[in-house]
Amino acid sequence: MASGIVDLRSDTVTSPDRAMRAAMASAEVGDDAYGEDPTVRSLEEAFAARVGKQAALFVCSGLMGNQVALRCLTNPGSLVVAGATQHVVAYEHGAAGRNAGVQFHAVCDSSGSFGPDDVTYAMDSSRHHHPQVSLVCAEDTHMASGGRPWAAGSLAAVAAAAGSVPVHLDGARLFNAEVATGVGAGVRAAAAVTVMCCLSKGLGAPVGSLLAGPADVIAQARTERTVLGGTMRQAGVLAAAGLVALGNVERLAEDHRRASRLGTAVAERWSGALADLPSTNIVTFDHPAADELTDHMRRHGVLIGTVAPNRVRMVTHLDVDDPGLERACAAVASAPD
Ligand SMILES: *Cc1c(COP(=O)(O)O)cnc(C)c1O
Repeated sequence: MASGIVDLRSDTVTSPDRAMRAAMASAEVGDDAYGEDPTVRSLEEAFAARVGKQAALFVCSGLMGNQVALRCLTNPGSLVVAGATQHVVAYEHGAAGRNAGVQFHAVCDSSGSFGPDDVTYAMDSSRHHHPQVSLVCAEDTHMASGGRPWAAGSLAAVAAAAGSVPVHLDGARLFNAEVATGVGAGVRAAAAVTVMCCLSKGLGAPVGSLLAGPADVIAQARTERTVLGGTMRQAGVLAAAGLVALGNVERLAEDHRRASRLGTAVAERWSGALADLPSTNIVTFDHPAADELTDHMRRHGVLIGTVAPNRVRMVTHLDVDDPGLERACAAVASAPD
């Protein structure tokens, strides 16, 4: 990178490259509130096809995609079953309570997922004075556990336990899961009514996420996006970047290879820090002095972040190359306890 800094804080820190900027500059646009932006429509259609849903909606952020889904699929006062460390539970500043009036029934997800029994328990509880469950929300890949993909068939099992209660899939990094497992995004999301993916993470777009689902739900989602202040006008300049970003799926394998190499360096420095090497692009582990470690890494030109007290995170992405990664590994090797 030009600045010489290796930025592993998040995969959101990428800058659009020349080809992406050229696509943005030449994008055909119109007023998307009138449904007249052809580039936004192309992106929504391409994404819906990619994840096997009828329709899709371009939104400003992954957070907005999750919130729009909650507003469409839940009722105020109801329960949403979700993993305790999922983004929608732990990293959205209580937005679900404010935007949808729901409460979370947060279940253990330290393994990277949860199971049908968790859903059944929450649903049975409504016969014992607990609120009704209106939605189940899963996250694939699961960020807090180190970017773990859900195992094949496990989302379908959760959806089966949920019965007529819908499932929303927070697939901010669903394409990382696709590349790591070889199971396509459409299959991964098949058991979910709605699925959200971020274009602005490993795929490298500057802005934007998409929410896909049945046509009637996405029509309602369009209204809910307006309610949240998320209607954009000549958004084709952003959607053009998104279309280029969808072409960056295969190269996520490079990020995964580098994260695995970085995970190896972490495991060599602190044995037992990682239960296993990352299969996607996130290395996260507990360290008793995360602030000191962060300072050490910064002095070596490497930026890292934290996702909980003394829990460190390093994320690979398309602006981290092999020399940058080796600098990060060397800084890990020389880190204090
Ligand atoms: C980043 C992230 C989001 C939110 O996306 P933003 O575009 O940052 O709002 C939602 N879910 C997960 C799992 C994420 O990692």
